[in-house]
Amino acid sequence: MDLQTGKFYWDTTLQNPPTYPPLQEDISCDVLIVGGGGSGTQCAHYLSEYGLDVVLVEKNKIGYGSTRSNTALIQYAGEKTFLQLINSFGGDYALRHFLLCKEAINEIEKISSSLEISPDFTRRDSLYYASCKEDVSKLRQEYDLLKKYNFSVEFWTEKEISKKYPFQKYAALYYINDAELNPYKFTIGLLEKSKKKGVRIFEQTEIKGKKFEKDKNIFHTDKGNVIHAKHVIMAAGYECLDFKNEKNTVMVSSYAVVTNPIKDFSSWYKRSLIWESARPYVYMRTTPDDRIIIGGLDENITSPKERDMKLTHKKNLLIKEFQKLFPNIHVHPEFYISAFYGGTHDGLPIIGKYEEFPNCYFLMGYGDNGTVYSMALAKIISQVITKGSHQDLDLYLQTRPFLNLQRNHKI
Ligand SMILES: Cc1cc2nc3c(=O)[nH]c(=O)nc-3n(C[C@H](O)[C@H](O)[C@H](O)COP(=O)(O)OP(=O)(O)OC[C@H]3O[C@@H](n4cnc5c(N)ncnc54)[C@H](O)[C@@H]3O)c2cc1C
Repeated sequence: MDLQTGKFYWDTTLQNPPTYPPLQEDISCDVLIVGGGGSGTQCAHYLSEYGLDVVLVEKNKIGYGSTRSNTALIQYAGEKTFLQLINSFGGDYALRHFLLCKEAINEIEKISSSLEISPDFTRRDSLYYASCKEDVSKLRQEYDLLKKYNFSVEFWTEKEISKKYPFQKYAALYYINDAELNPYKFTIGLLEKSKKKGVRIFEQTEIKGKKFEKDKNIFHTDKGNVIHAKHVIMAAGYECLDFKNEKNTVMVSSYAVVTNPIKDFSSWYKRSLIWESARPYVYMRTTPDDRIIIGGLDENITSPKERDMKLTHKKNLLIKEFQKLFPNIHVHPEFYISAFYGGTHDGLPIIGKYEEFPNCYFLMGYGDNGTVYSMALAKIISQVITKGSHQDLDLYLQTRPFLNLQRNHKI
């Protein structure tokens, strides 16, 4: 899959990243992880804690998949609101998902503080504003539900917003204690930590073919070597779909720019994350070197050529959208990307378990909070492999009730 194009930012923030050798012999292991992005690395981290013999293979360079395009707003509230998730799955289900996401953010924070390569994890609040007047009542409903379940969120009126930002919006939800990080440094830092615990890592090693025998999976690499594994985690990001089609997934094209460094952020309240109720939406955050990341304007485009042809136009539009909010901050794009971005129809990430892939787990942390979803899913999958079960596995299996099949309004 041609995942993305552009001038990338994150890898410029880490000088001389470690490199790993290609696999050049046949090997065996307890767990094979296919994919060296954020998701594969999160799995390697959990599994390394259990002392298993873990191998991670990456066809390209570590962190050069979608992880490289990740704008890394770290939030639990996603594209589908709490109310929409309740309507699709029922109250208990939606609440459990939100709590697991909150737990995953805490986990990312804890891990980040233990890494030698710091991923610049910083707690930030999020402003989610109503893009039009009609959305105000939806925000109010969402607020009431979130408050009922003790989530730290405030409802802001037009007056409160304009006191804190240089723009006017009808209303907003203000989420306390979300976060931002550097996804590339997080991936490299975490993998280095796992390497020290014995995880074997191979770059430039592509999985090309597979065969399943009784209690072993046999995977063939592009260099003709064979990997025997008791368990396999497919953490190939959106390229999981090259191995197995999954009907609940949807791919679109997304865009992002990273601006020049800015001197004065005094008009940007707490350098919060900002996004909106419109679909598709525009979102923004700042970086530790005082740049601004602006992203969004997704389109239903699945041809890489068509996606990339729109990059210049979208780059300009994103800057324009930003200037509408902050006319006093003058920016120009220094980095810019167009990328495929995957979500799911029902708004939850997926753990795929398929008959034709025995002892294999597909980690599809698809959705706007991909980093958080992958963290939660990596923990679940790792526990299923090491302990035989996890109470939340059913929540994310691809066999879950799909698209309003189950309605259970317990909230
Ligand atoms: C524009 C954009 C903005 C985003 N913004 C956010 C955000 O603000 N917050 C957030 O939480 N998430 C965001 N996401 C989502 C986030 O980027 C993804 O959830 C995350 O990067 C997925 O990581 P991954 O490891 O699953 O995939 P990847 O990073 O793509 O890693 C998968 C790896 O598998 C490798 N691979 C594939 N096939 C094979 C094979 N056959 N053999 C060996 N290796 C293979 C690939 O080379 C790749 O390196 C965004 C995504 C995009 C595109």
